[in-house]
Amino acid sequence: MPMSDSFENRLHPILEEIVEHFGTPFHIYDESGIRETGQALINAFSKLSGFREYFAVKALPNPGILKVMRDLGFGFDCSSVAELLLSRQLGARGDDIMFTSNNTAADEFILAAADGGCILNLDDISLIPKISEMPELISFRYNPGPRRSGNSIIGNPIESKYGVSHEQLVDTYKAARDLGATRFGLHAMLVSNELNYEYMVETANMLLEVAEWINAELGIVFDFVNIGGGLGIPYRPEDKPLDLDKMAEGITTLFIDFQKRYGYMPKLYMESGRYMTGAHGVLVTKAINHKDIYRKYIGVDASASALMRPAIYGAYHHITVAGKSMEQNAGRVDVVGPLCENNDKFAIQRSLPDIQIGDILCIHDTGAHGHAMGFNYNGRLRPKELLLRSDASVELIRREETIEDYFATLNFEPQTLIPETLKRLAN
Ligand SMILES: *Cc1c(COP(=O)(O)O)cnc(C)c1O
Repeated sequence: MPMSDSFENRLHPILEEIVEHFGTPFHIYDESGIRETGQALINAFSKLSGFREYFAVKALPNPGILKVMRDLGFGFDCSSVAELLLSRQLGARGDDIMFTSNNTAADEFILAAADGGCILNLDDISLIPKISEMPELISFRYNPGPRRSGNSIIGNPIESKYGVSHEQLVDTYKAARDLGATRFGLHAMLVSNELNYEYMVETANMLLEVAEWINAELGIVFDFVNIGGGLGIPYRPEDKPLDLDKMAEGITTLFIDFQKRYGYMPKLYMESGRYMTGAHGVLVTKAINHKDIYRKYIGVDASASALMRPAIYGAYHHITVAGKSMEQNAGRVDVVGPLCENNDKFAIQRSLPDIQIGDILCIHDTGAHGHAMGFNYNGRLRPKELLLRSDASVELIRREETIEDYFATLNFEPQTLIPETLKRLAN
């Protein structure tokens, strides 16, 4: 899906100036668009008091963006120490943070509990003895197994490593209660990049049914139900956007029905990443080479180290060429980066306008799981990130990596272990 007209209309007139000032490649994000999406989410769920979005930090872990999320009143969904520290740097504490980790190491739990704590959303019954002290409020991630099917990115629940199984769930809450927990949450995340809103309504329905079941077994009342992230964005021009209002309507009805039956309503939490920022970013890169062999190739100055989704998922990202319209279609090309890895392609056999060396390409919808998934294979460095502010100024919110950054981990005190067996041989 092409970037929003509003983003395009504000970016296009200043793109050349930005390129000249900052140099390519870079991701640039749209503050106004992110705020609009955040406000639309808040409005959609306005009938459910206590609704809160916990922005999935992993989608776009940049303080410049997280500040905007905090402004909107959102919390943060974290699953690593670095993400916890990023959130706390912005002042988030306690129930501003949901720690949804999996395969968690004991020292991560120590850090999660320190410095104002967070809501622990545990992934398994075996993690209960690993937390030093059972908090008053505890949540668990539920994996329904064969009771639900997933979607293609996240896979079927029965094959997924996440969450507490149906069979272990009652014992899990019972164990937490026996250790002193008095308030409870329930979480599931079953899809990724899903455009069919009905899936999220089904997840909300499933979680409310589980809440009823656990309540019947243990008398536990749930503080909140967290339906996870996974809302999709339309990457392809022909994709239909997720119907947010219909989704909210369906979920709101379920919660109001629940209240009628039980006299209380858990709060609704959500932890979207992609939906919040995905469409509000573009990767801007320059054409630096042409190649004409069995296929035509356009070489650009960004690589999969700046955007890995096409290489690992075969994901589609729309591409436009600054100043050239699709009516000038010049035939099919592969748009490639410089990695020695044939998957390093932003587009395969894509119809694009005639591209000259020096032309600026915009790779759309890179605002989530874009820069964040970057890596250093082949010694390639990750690009800078910019934020197009609502006042039309452009702020550098992360510099590009340098060769010095790349070499930083090769800078250390020499260390060699002489194993005892080797020492004995020497004697
Ligand atoms: C990745 C992840 C999210 C965010 O997923 P999106 O597809 O970006 O919405 C939310 N919650 C958990 C637990 C995740 O692992």
